[in-house]
Amino acid sequence: MDPTFKSVFKPAFAIIEKIERHGGEAFIVGGSVRDFLSGRIVGDIDIATSETPQRIQKIFKKVIPVGIEHGTVIVRYEGNSYEVTTYRTEKGYEDFRHPDEVTFVHNIKEDLARRDFTMNAIAMDRRGQIVDPYNGRQAIEQREINAVGNPSERFLEDPLRMMRAVRFASQLNFTIENNTKRAISQQSHLLAHISIERIAEETIKLYKGEGFKLGLELVTDLHLKPHLPHLNQLDLLDQRPKVSLQTWPEVIAYYSFRRSNSSVKEWVEKWKLSNRCRREAESLMEGLEEYERKRSISPWLVYKLPENLFPSFDRLLRAGTGYDQGFLTKMREVLFQLPIRSSNDLAFQAKDLINLYPDQPKGPWISQAVEQMEYSIVESHLHNEYEKIKEWVIRWNPPVNN
Ligand code: ATP
Ligand code: MG
Repeated sequence: MDPTFKSVFKPAFAIIEKIERHGGEAFIVGGSVRDFLSGRIVGDIDIATSETPQRIQKIFKKVIPVGIEHGTVIVRYEGNSYEVTTYRTEKGYEDFRHPDEVTFVHNIKEDLARRDFTMNAIAMDRRGQIVDPYNGRQAIEQREINAVGNPSERFLEDPLRMMRAVRFASQLNFTIENNTKRAISQQSHLLAHISIERIAEETIKLYKGEGFKLGLELVTDLHLKPHLPHLNQLDLLDQRPKVSLQTWPEVIAYYSFRRSNSSVKEWVEKWKLSNRCRREAESLMEGLEEYERKRSISPWLVYKLPENLFPSFDRLLRAGTGYDQGFLTKMREVLFQLPIRSSNDLAFQAKDLINLYPDQPKGPWISQAVEQMEYSIVESHLHNEYEKIKEWVIRWNPPVNN
């Protein structure tokens, strides 16, 4: 056993051993086996077992019942979480959403048969022995995505699998096998039955992937594009980012900045993303606009952009230019030298403004004046000193009567 193999899977093997001691059977399955066999970093480890969720709850101390009706629980073990799912088959996806019926089965092979692609239908026991009824290993060697069984039937069962195919192509830089590809292009319309939230999860993984260019090519060629709001109005290849983007706010800001007729708000609504996503996309957009005005990482840009978005902003600039010009380092340097970090640091506060103009009714002039003050100080046109600011306010920025 090679050492990386052991260290990656050791705690999962301990779980399997415990299940075996209680008379059951269990295997590591899915993405972690695939990623291990293809030499990639292994993420979450999923376990398939002959035991029911109720039995698993008895065997382990810390079990979180996340989807008992589908046979899934989370086992907490030595500080890590493992999804443990009872062997099952799925029948009848009448509403294209959930299988009408989940039937528990006794055999790992039957469980592997319900999985989407051959590379994802490989199981490994705790000795590292592989169960691979669909030649998934060979597909991995050939860097190929193959549906398990008849591709048309499998996509009819769950059309989301078509989006999964293209996102795996991007993530792994694999091609899609011809029959699987043909089935997608013939049945792409079925994606209309899938909720936008599920499509969004796969789409962002596609953008994150190293092979995103290939992924975008496939989305276009296999006619999946009409089902992707806003993206369907773009030439995805011509207008593609020059490096992969990692989050939805980055993707939205990237395209919105280049096409003024698609607002951040509309993107977020159509894709049913969160308010936080909207705020972040808007901040990134403002940053891009400021960058375009000044053609540099200005103090004002860095002041306005939340620090947690620096890596996103750096990627956006690289996605536009194709060059790494040390933007991230520059942003951190500029941040370090800012005279103030927020309006709380102003030596002359909103209350001082109000005291200066006691007869002036409160209104938007206050926040406008504060922002002017912030801008002048951040851009070093004004010192952050009470008297200096007061003088500046009186001379340059008296409240407007309206
Ligand atoms: P990732 O690295 O992105 O997590 P993954 O292969 O682990 O990739 P998951 O979505 O976490 O993907 O699913 C885990 C496993 O469950 C898959 O490897 C596959 O065997 C099975 N699976 C997931 N979604 C489907 C689906 N829609 N249809 C059939 N099998 C699926
Ligand atoms: Mg996974």
